[in-house]
Amino acid sequence: MSERLSRPERRSLQKQDAQLLGLPLAMGTDPRPVAAHIRHVIKLLRSPQAKSPCSDAIAHVTSVYDRSLPASAQTMLACRKGCSHCCTQLVVVTAPEAFFVAAQIRKQPKTVAAVVEAARDTGTLSLEERLRAKSMCPMLDAAICSVYAARPLGCHGFVSTNLNACLAAFERLETPDIPMPQDNISVLYACRMLLLAALRLAGLRDSTYEMNSALAAILTEDNAEPRWLTGEDILAGVKPAAPPPPQFEDAIRKMAAFVSPTV
Ligand code: SF4
Repeated sequence: MSERLSRPERRSLQKQDAQLLGLPLAMGTDPRPVAAHIRHVIKLLRSPQAKSPCSDAIAHVTSVYDRSLPASAQTMLACRKGCSHCCTQLVVVTAPEAFFVAAQIRKQPKTVAAVVEAARDTGTLSLEERLRAKSMCPMLDAAICSVYAARPLGCHGFVSTNLNACLAAFERLETPDIPMPQDNISVLYACRMLLLAALRLAGLRDSTYEMNSALAAILTEDNAEPRWLTGEDILAGVKPAAPPPPQFEDAIRKMAAFVSPTV
């Protein structure tokens, strides 16, 4: 597609999208399901009447992740409620993911203080330093994620089929070798791609950041989300994480180019 759509074409695309949005994300060569979700995420990000457009957009992307996994992928997992060995890791988020988490904890002064402290103590550590520090995520409450429904995509996607491999990596600090079902990896890849493509097409920053540093910056500003959505770089003081690897960047660019004439 190289030209803007006519009105009838747009109507027909909306009908097609409505059908695709209700289905699990199909993994394959057909770009239309991912394109439908990108258009929907852009629409959510551009909803001025929404209390938190970013929360709505991320809730949609994470629901796509959850319902696109086959039941067999879930039964293979060793992950259980109260198992939080992996919550010492460096979590990387986009700004909308951070706004979604921030909306859950904003009215909890103890958690906000713990996030600011974590950002100060571990926000700039490398992945390896972070694991060695064994510093638990400030969102944990008695080993349970207190923002579970709003946890970032990276937390959704970090799963394991073998508890011993987690204990080796996070408790004994051996070289991490966590086995994950291929379905989880593929769906996470597609969801990340659709989120980053949607952010670009919506004219928003698609940088990623260490979670606690991003949260600390957001939680200490008034009206951070509406300001960010209108172009103010609320996270200018937070060092961005590494950009996507070339192959992933190529996939985001191709998908954004495919969707661009339709938004
Ligand atoms: S946000 Fe929740 S799932 Fe993610 S690291 Fe923190 S406690 Fe663990």
